[in-house]
Amino acid sequence: MEIQFKNTVIEAVQGDITRETTDVIVNAANSSLLGGGGVDGAIHRAGGPEILEECQKIRARQGGCATGEAVITTAGRLPARYVVHTVGPVWNGGSNGEDNLLHNCYLNSLALANDHGATSISFPNISTGIYGYPKSQAADVAIQAIKEYVQLSGKGHMQRIRFVCYDAENLALYEQKLEQAFQQS
Ligand code: ADP
Repeated sequence: MEIQFKNTVIEAVQGDITRETTDVIVNAANSSLLGGGGVDGAIHRAGGPEILEECQKIRARQGGCATGEAVITTAGRLPARYVVHTVGPVWNGGSNGEDNLLHNCYLNSLALANDHGATSISFPNISTGIYGYPKSQAADVAIQAIKEYVQLSGKGHMQRIRFVCYDAENLALYEQKLEQAFQQS
């Protein structure tokens, strides 16, 4: 599905984020930046060793990446131009700042992509795999964050923001929640 909000097209699709042709794809990384399972593993496998080499340099410089923050690297062999690596929160009951940290992941990724001249970006469903975040709540946070970003961003806006859902359950949630979030605006 596709929604137009101000000057931005917001989409939800089901698929593999490594195939995305947007300027930026976002990786749900861990704070070590050394790769892992899930979408992180898929991105490093498909993108080749250049991505990990840059992650290692960032790690040497700043000691990894804190939860809610984001860093950017080449996309190696992937069709995208850059990979933004953001570290989602591990779900720990919900009263440990999880929503705020997840919100920061989306906003910091968008800001970093924009700083690098990107006009299109694809997000996975950050934290909803190994990190155990309830999918419905994570979708609410993600949609609220991008809505806030599009409302507040001035000239250097994203033309296209894609939620690339790996599973049908997430796609159904995004379709329903995007409709709800944007129909009144
Ligand atoms: P986290 O540790 O942040 O939970 P995961 O990689 O385990 O990260 O999961 C995040 C989301 O990414 C999950 O919804 C998972 O189904 C999804 N995912 C896994 N592989 C891919 C892929 N190739 N493309 C897009 N999404 C993926």
